[in-house]
Parts: sequence; structure tokens; C-alpha cells
Amino acid sequence: MDFRPTDEQRLLRRTVREFAEAEIGPHVMEWDESQNFPMELLPKLAALGLTGIQFAEEFGGAGMSSVEYCICIEEIARVCPAIALSVAAHNGLCASHIAMFGDERQKAQYLPRLVRGEVLGAWGLTEASAGSDAAGMRTTAVRQGECWVINGAKTFITHGRIGGVMVVIAVTDRAKGHRGISAFVVEHGTAGMSAGKKENKLGMRASDTSEVVFQDCRVSSAHLLGEEGQGFINTLQVLDSGRIGIAALSVGLAQGAYEAAMRYAKERRQFGQPIAAFQAIQWKLADNATRIEAARLLTYRAAYLKDRGQRTTRESSMAKLFASEMAVKAADDCVQIHGGYGFVKDYPAEKYFRDVKLLTIGEGTSEIQRLVIARQLLSE
Ligand SMILES: Cc1cc2nc3c(=O)[nH]c(=O)nc-3n(C[C@H](O)[C@H](O)[C@H](O)COP(=O)(O)OP(=O)(O)OC[C@H]3O[C@@H](n4cnc5c(N)ncnc54)[C@H](O)[C@@H]3O)c2cc1C
Repeated sequence: MDFRPTDEQRLLRRTVREFAEAEIGPHVMEWDESQNFPMELLPKLAALGLTGIQFAEEFGGAGMSSVEYCICIEEIARVCPAIALSVAAHNGLCASHIAMFGDERQKAQYLPRLVRGEVLGAWGLTEASAGSDAAGMRTTAVRQGECWVINGAKTFITHGRIGGVMVVIAVTDRAKGHRGISAFVVEHGTAGMSAGKKENKLGMRASDTSEVVFQDCRVSSAHLLGEEGQGFINTLQVLDSGRIGIAALSVGLAQGAYEAAMRYAKERRQFGQPIAAFQAIQWKLADNATRIEAARLLTYRAAYLKDRGQRTTRESSMAKLFASEMAVKAADDCVQIHGGYGFVKDYPAEKYFRDVKLLTIGEGTSEIQRLVIARQLLSE
């Protein structure tokens, strides 16, 4: 067992931290207020390899491991969870699905543009009436000669309005249940595909979230991603790694909230002394520091196992469940330690508190993670 990061991983963490603090930190509140993903950040993310973190160098990717992916997401989330969410959706859902299941031609066509940050990636599974029960989706893709015709609507899609390339999951043979679901890759601007309602969100507001509507959207058979009928099974594999990314995002957010709480506890004086001198505050800091470390270990263990080629369904869900719920507590304590100043926008506490709640919901709610973990345990 070796818990030490390599010299390269230490350097990566320092580099991404410095980048996030310099290029993202000063704009966090402005981007949150405007509720728009800052497209001007995209080339800067790309220059650092953050739009192609885990993809092969032949596609221009940074060729990093899953452990290194976690380092990148964690360090961005520490400064701005919303930007980390966008980076995670682009890399860990859209581009990953193409890299994992696309054929050579599809990879060559889409990955270089995603990796270079020329386009943002989106990934559409959820529908208005099919969230946790994603296999109950209504969107269909019907074969017509050499084409597929997609009809339906996807809800809560990260980069739904601004994504240049989208992976869409649709029913291709309802009679076959979850084995009758397939994935397609569709480019922004394809006739019949349009952005629907943009969501006005509690948190993660700099990450665009909107509906995507398909009305007789016709794509050639070259857009079928992976084998016909394998789309849902492939989706679960994409989520196995995506959830490690959400766990890393949770660790980063909690770390940012903890550091803000620690800073404030040392500065703020009541009853003639810094509030950090009170045991009630110290215990919160100690508990959060301990829980963050525990979540970090679960997260990096899942990433390490994935890097060894192991299936990580159980480990990914455990990391995501524990880390996201830990982060909710860390953000809550951060506000509490700030007192009234935790409730106003002059301090970072309120934004961590708003952003964090998505983490127990997106890529499978906590309830669904427990269900996945229990299924894995019972089948062992
Ligand atoms: C900001 C944001 C970004 C998102 N980005 C994307 C994206 O890019 N692509 C995408 O496809 N989706 C995306 N989503 C959707 C997200 O994955 C879903 O919201 C999530 O999976 C939950 O689905 P739902 O909202 O329909 O809730 P529901 O499934 O309706 O759940 C409601 C409640 O019921 C509980 N519940 C449901 N089923 C069970 C069960 N069997 N046992 C116990 N409890 C249960 C849930 O845990 C939850 O508490 C995003 C969502 C948000 C808010």
C-alpha cells in the first residue's frame, strides 16, 4: 500500500490549484450571478489539458489517469464547484462515453474538438418523467433506412444549450426493456434538435443546465454510439466512472468550505477571543477535516481501482454517497461557523451551501447510490 502521490501528481495539484485561484477565483460570484458558463474560460481550461483530462494523446488528450482526473476536479471544485461540474460533465460523461464506446471514426471525429475545448460536451439521459428510473425514458430513436429519427426531450442537461456535441440515450426497441436502449452522438445545430427551458437553479449556477428537445431529428447510422441495444448498459459503465468524479467534486467543495470556515474562525472575535478558541467550533473543524480525509480516501481508492482496470460499481457509489453527504455537512458547518456572515454573499460560505446540494442528486441520488451498493453487496 502506498498512499503517497507521485511528484507529477503533486505538481499537477499545485498547477491546477494555482490556475483555479488565479483564473476562476476572482470571477466566482460574477459567474454565479450571471448564470452563464463563461465560454472565455474554455481555451484556458484546454491549455492546461482540463478539457481532455483522461483521453489518449493521439486525440490531443492529456492522457491522465483516473487518480489524476480526481486531482483536477477536486482542485477546481475547491474554488468553484459549478465550473468543476461543467468540467466533469464535459470530460466524465460526454467525452468519456465517446472514448469508451465510440468506434475509431467517431473518436477521431469528436474527441479532438472536445479535447481542444472547441466545443463543450453534453450528455442526455434524464427526462422529465424518468430520472432515477432512467430506463423508463420516453425518447425514441426509430430506424428509417440508413437514418435514425430521434423524438423526445431530455431534462436537466448540463450544457444543453451551449454544448456543441451531445450524447443522447434513447429507446430503440421498447420490447427489449433496458436492452432496447441505444446511445447516439448528435451535434449542436442538427435539424430537429433544439434547446428548451434553461433552468434557474439554487446553485451550480455558472454551469448551464437546460432541456434539449428532439423533433424528428434525423441522424445517419454513423451517429449510433456503441452497439444498438447496449446504450443503457454502457451508460451504467460511464456512470461508474462519472460518480468517482462527483465524489472528487464533493471532496474539493468540502475542502474549500472547510478552509473558509477555518480562516473565518481564526479572524472572528467574540467574547474577547477568536471563535476558533471555543471548543464547539474546534470540534466542527476537527470533524470536517476528518470526514474530508475519509471521503478523499474512498474517492482515490475507487479511482486507483479503476486505473487498475477493475469494475468499480460498488466503490464508485460508496465514494459518491459518502463524499456528497459529507460535503453537505461541511458546507452547512461552514455557514454555521460564519454565523450571519454565512448567510450573505460577501463570504464564500453561502455559495458552497447552495452548490453542494446538487452533489447528493446528480448522477444518481443518495437513495439510488444506496440501492446500487446494496445490490452489489447482496449479489456477492
Ligand atoms: C444541476 C443538474 C445537472 C444535471 N446534469 C445532468 C446531465 O448532464 N445529464 C443528465 O442526463 N442528467 C442530469 N441531471 C439529472 C440528474 O441526474 C437527476 O436529477 C437525478 O438523477 C434524479 O432524478 P430526478 O430529478 O428525476 O429525481 P427522481 O428520480 O424523481 O427522485 C425524486 C426522489 O425520489 C427518490 N427515489 C427515486 N427512486 C427511488 C427508489 N427506487 N428508492 C428510493 N428512493 C427513490 C430519489 O432519491 C429522490 O429523493 C442533472 C440534474 C441537475 C439538478
